[in-house]
Amino acid sequence: MRILVTNDDGIDAPGIITLVKYLSRSHDVQVVAPDSQKSAIGHAITIRTPIWAKETEVIDGVKGYAVNGTPADCVKLGLEVLMDGNVDLVVSGINEGPNLGTDILYSGTVSGALEGALMGKPSIAISCSNQSDPHYESAAKFLVDFLEVFNVAEIPRFSALNVNVPSVPYDKIRGWRITRQSSRRYRDKFEARKDPFGNTYYWMFGEIIEDDESDDADYVAINNGYVSITPISVFLTDWDFMEKLKEVKWG
Ligand code: MN
Repeated sequence: MRILVTNDDGIDAPGIITLVKYLSRSHDVQVVAPDSQKSAIGHAITIRTPIWAKETEVIDGVKGYAVNGTPADCVKLGLEVLMDGNVDLVVSGINEGPNLGTDILYSGTVSGALEGALMGKPSIAISCSNQSDPHYESAAKFLVDFLEVFNVAEIPRFSALNVNVPSVPYDKIRGWRITRQSSRRYRDKFEARKDPFGNTYYWMFGEIIEDDESDDADYVAINNGYVSITPISVFLTDWDFMEKLKEVKWG
């Protein structure tokens, strides 16, 4: 397959390097990725400033473009211009850390895949579950294996796969589970500090809330040592609520 690889951690990040190393053994890979760290940039696009794409070699024999834009920019530019539409699959990752529950809304990694889905290409986002001990090789190997048994042409238009791989040695992965996006989310905290001029600034961080305990929740699969594979879509319509809302009468 001809594969466009992007990410949100930047073209030099170890996750994308490992991914390219593994994918390029059996596929024609080209990288179009941000030139710097773009995590939590979501689905942002660059429309008021120019975008440069600097040609580079990601690993021996694999060409890449370092783009001063977002993951969504990279996929648009890659598909429309740099790879001339000739792409069988878009892969975004391997992200440094998980993209579970509501992470999907903020994630540049997942948005890279959703942009591919929007543009009519089979697309997969892949993340490792532990930022401090990532095991990128396990995730890369898993994806290569998965692509052997799953035909990506079966991914419907406007849909993508959000894959999270437990950060463990490859032979410790217990299997995979098809999951749903859980309500795993964060309780926001803001640490107030003082700058050298006496002004207060804030640093946001969060405590994870995991209270969506059923076997098909994405993070439950990860916590049990399974790869989590969630089919996701670019559409956010709440169908149950839509039916209820239709019952509201005017006047
Ligand atoms: Mn990231």
